[in-house]
Amino acid sequence: MTAYKRNLRRDLLKTIGTGALAASVAGCVSMPSSGASFKRPHSRKPMYAPRINHENVIREVVGHRPYRPAGFVVRSEKLGEKVVVHNYGHGGSGITLCWGSSALAVRETLGMEHREVAVIGAGVMGLTSARLLQDAGWKVTIYTRDMPRHTTSNVAGGEWGPASAHDPDLSSDAFKSQLRFAGRISHHAHTNLGGANYGIRWMELYRPTNNSGRDEFSGIFADLYPYEDILGPGEHPFSTDYCRIAMTMMIEPGTFLRRVTKDFYHAGGKIVVRSFVDKEELLALNEPVLFNCTGMGARQLFGDEEMIPAKGQLIFFPPDPDIDYLTIGGGASNLYMFSRSDVLLLGGTFKPGDWSTQPEPDETARIIREHQRIFSGLPS
Ligand SMILES: Cc1cc2nc3c(=O)[nH]c(=O)nc-3n(C[C@H](O)[C@H](O)[C@H](O)COP(=O)(O)OP(=O)(O)OC[C@H]3O[C@@H](n4cnc5c(N)ncnc54)[C@H](O)[C@@H]3O)c2cc1C
Repeated sequence: MTAYKRNLRRDLLKTIGTGALAASVAGCVSMPSSGASFKRPHSRKPMYAPRINHENVIREVVGHRPYRPAGFVVRSEKLGEKVVVHNYGHGGSGITLCWGSSALAVRETLGMEHREVAVIGAGVMGLTSARLLQDAGWKVTIYTRDMPRHTTSNVAGGEWGPASAHDPDLSSDAFKSQLRFAGRISHHAHTNLGGANYGIRWMELYRPTNNSGRDEFSGIFADLYPYEDILGPGEHPFSTDYCRIAMTMMIEPGTFLRRVTKDFYHAGGKIVVRSFVDKEELLALNEPVLFNCTGMGARQLFGDEEMIPAKGQLIFFPPDPDIDYLTIGGGASNLYMFSRSDVLLLGGTFKPGDWSTQPEPDETARIIREHQRIFSGLPS
């Protein structure tokens, strides 16, 4: 029995007294906990349901996760006179992995005498690569088609979690060890930057589920989720049998990108807005070293046909400071609710190979309906 379950049982017994009555109530653990009486494992505050309905939707967005089933690419190659360092293909985990993957990419420059570099792309990978290169003494120019606020990185939900980074059946052991390394470095870096300046904070994560067995969610990073536990029937207010709990980081993409861009300028960096059509155009740049941080752009620029878009659709509601937790799961297909300071958002689609850019009304209706059900046991 977990510490949480022991405390729950003790609190129940204390509240109702000992004897036959206590025994009968403590035995009724299959009754769903009502939201009003639910004691949160790591917070002393009451727990409310987010106010989710069609009338409160402020905006819907669509983004294409730069997904590569065999896993993201970090490697260098010599092309003519230039060295190109690749850092792309992070699927649904680019915000999570950015510092670690970029550290691996910058490691590719060890021993080089050059000190001028062109970073292509101004999403999380381009910006964090650029900052780490500056710290290592490089003069950095970012060339990008889109400024940070117009990138896929700015569409991301922003939870720290290695979700949809690869297909474990297709990725190699070498990739898995690269992922393990990148995840740990990145986790360390994000925790170092925690706080309002970078838009990073720790929050309770609830994962309603009907499965009591171990799952792949935290997988190789299980130890990076403090307070991980599972609540059984009657011990949580969600509409599923079980609920996994843990703490994780919320990284607000807008704040994070703005702050890293500011740091980049402050350290003397320059951004040039420019779109490249092919590799040859890139190789004509003056800088001897190029970092390819173009996300989905790597498909066209470097002919990587393993890169596929995984369409995601987010529904934004006004922010609600009373919702101080996140949820993932609880129904069919990638459902999640993230409460951020700029918006409260719902997500629920991951569609590999779908290039369409419009939100789908059927999906919006489904995601709203499923979340209304998930939170129906909590007071609003
Ligand atoms: C709906 C959704 C939810 C997500 N949620 C999360 C989450 O909760 N947690 C998480 O960790 N990740 C999440 N992600 C994934 C994350 O957004 C991506 O993995 C990440 O943004 C990839 O960053 P990037 O810098 O590689 O690519 P991008 O942000 O796409 O940046 C690519 C850059 O390259 C430039 N570029 C491309 N082609 C060219 C060209 N030809 N010439 C010049 N410049 C070019 C672009 O202009 C841009 O500046 C989510 C993604 C989506 C869509």
